[in-house]
Amino acid sequence: MSSKIEKSDDQWRCDLAPDAYEVLRHEGTEPPGTSALNFEKRKGTYVCAGCGTPLFSSDMKYDSGSGWPSFYTSLPGVFETSRDFKLFMPRTEYHCAQCGGHHGHVFNDGPAPTGTRFCNNGVSLKFIADE
Ligand code: FE
Repeated sequence: MSSKIEKSDDQWRCDLAPDAYEVLRHEGTEPPGTSALNFEKRKGTYVCAGCGTPLFSSDMKYDSGSGWPSFYTSLPGVFETSRDFKLFMPRTEYHCAQCGGHHGHVFNDGPAPTGTRFCNNGVSLKFIADE
């Protein structure tokens, strides 16, 4: 009963830009401060660069100063999580529930009202501005 998008690694490589492929499919991390989405302030929707699923609204975005697009919550049910110990301190990895693409890590040092920080790679997102 999975609605997940299944593609081979080669197919993903063909379908995605090289930087998005590395982050989404191999849990890469873009260099901080490199995403134009850090400065995106318009009203709109952030969708998965892998499959187009809406993930965040612009109302959920805030400036964390981390160098990556940051959100204090997400649209409901769009992510799955896994634990990740790559940086010694445990942090929670999250990925798109539809295509499995890696987006970032979630931390508990975000702003009110949730106290949650979704630290998201910009290359994993596409922004669609409201009309
Ligand atoms: Fe996706």
